[in-house]
Amino acid sequence: MFATLSDRLSAAFSSLRGKGRLSEADIEATVTEIRRALLDADVALPVVRSFTATVRERASSAEVSRALNPSQQIVKIVNEELTQILGGSARELRFAKRPPTVILLAGLQGAGKTTLAGKLGHWLRSEGHTPLLVAADLQRPNAVQQLQIVGENAGVPVWAPEPGNGTGDPVAVARTGVAHAKDRYYDVVVVDTAGRLGVDAEMMRQAADIRDAVSPDEILFVVDAMIGQDAVTTANAFAEGVGFTGVVLSKLDGDARGGAALSVAQVTGAPVLFASTGEKVTDFERFHPDRMASRILDMGDVLTLIEQAERAFDADQAEEMANKIAGDGDFTLADFLTQMQQMKQLGSMKKMLGMLPGMGQIREQLENFDEREVDRVEAIVRSMTPAERENPKILNGSRRSRIARGSGTTVTEINQLLDRFDQAKTMMRSMARNGGRGMPGGVPG
Ligand code: GDP
Repeated sequence: MFATLSDRLSAAFSSLRGKGRLSEADIEATVTEIRRALLDADVALPVVRSFTATVRERASSAEVSRALNPSQQIVKIVNEELTQILGGSARELRFAKRPPTVILLAGLQGAGKTTLAGKLGHWLRSEGHTPLLVAADLQRPNAVQQLQIVGENAGVPVWAPEPGNGTGDPVAVARTGVAHAKDRYYDVVVVDTAGRLGVDAEMMRQAADIRDAVSPDEILFVVDAMIGQDAVTTANAFAEGVGFTGVVLSKLDGDARGGAALSVAQVTGAPVLFASTGEKVTDFERFHPDRMASRILDMGDVLTLIEQAERAFDADQAEEMANKIAGDGDFTLADFLTQMQQMKQLGSMKKMLGMLPGMGQIREQLENFDEREVDRVEAIVRSMTPAERENPKILNGSRRSRIARGSGTTVTEINQLLDRFDQAKTMMRSMARNGGRGMPGGVPG
């Protein structure tokens, strides 16, 4: 699913790796790559245009996080914007206040409506509902029989016209189906309707007549994710002809280029509720825009990691520290200790950090980072008087021996700590001159 698009997007990001800062040209080149990748994946042009414009704008604006390097920032922005065009947050199926809830399925022939009816029925049953499937597709030969087989597989009863009456009135079948559900206390009715190979007026009229007869709570437009650019045209035609409240993307398991998925929600404004991912009754999932975006970016783990890194490195704290150094050079041993504690926090994610692009430098430092070191530094700093912490220059031989005794360490260890503190201080100064960019980390070792 979306394999090509994923590869193309990662390639677009990879050229940013190791860059400390993004120039306008870097951003432009990346945006151009993203644009090409989306167009090649059959995403509709207006969607591509607005998407790339937003990414460009956000990437160039001052909305930068000190915890992330430039390529991570772009990944984050693209992830958020992808989630947005896929509909933002997941929407639940809406149930009627007074059962039965009526769900109408609409879409072209072959889109996967009948298959979906079975999947929906199966899923609804697992959620504790008592669904009924209604066979109102009297157009396609065998459609009724197909729904009966699907219903049997799903363990869900099917309301169908009497045998020999297959050319009957689909509107009547739908209406009597809903009435039957009311009588027998089925709480959800899924109505399967006829489709054609192409959009035509007669099909639209029939679907609209069924709609008017059963007043559905949800009209789900089922679209084959493999039909590419046509998905948008078809969606618009159905939006106008019947109207729909939600979208189901089917055949997402195929070698789809994904354009339909990325365009339909945005173009029609209707949320994607479900994804169909195979021929089996269980190949079905609720659609989560954020998860789908991470899947497209093929970076689920990296995104989690980015979130964690952001949490571990409190940007405000880092800025405060940078300002401190830039202001009066007042980087104290207490600040040093705070930094080490942050490193310790990150250290527990050492393994995961290995997967992050552009984290090579910090990873190397973490490899050499001994967590017990933090405890030692803490003990030493705690054994100092406030005056000594503020100004380590006053630490003569006898003060060092006293601190060693108090902290259960040796004078040599205290000397080492003070050396490293000096190094960190120098590092912080140079970072402050760079405008506070980069990871805070006076790392020992
Ligand atoms: P309808 O005409 O809209 O009712 O479409 P059907 O439910 O009959 O599906 C058309 C064909 O697509 C059938 O061969 C299904 O088995 C197949 N199909 C439906 N959904 C999926 C899916 O999610 N993945 C795959 N691979 N095939 C599907």
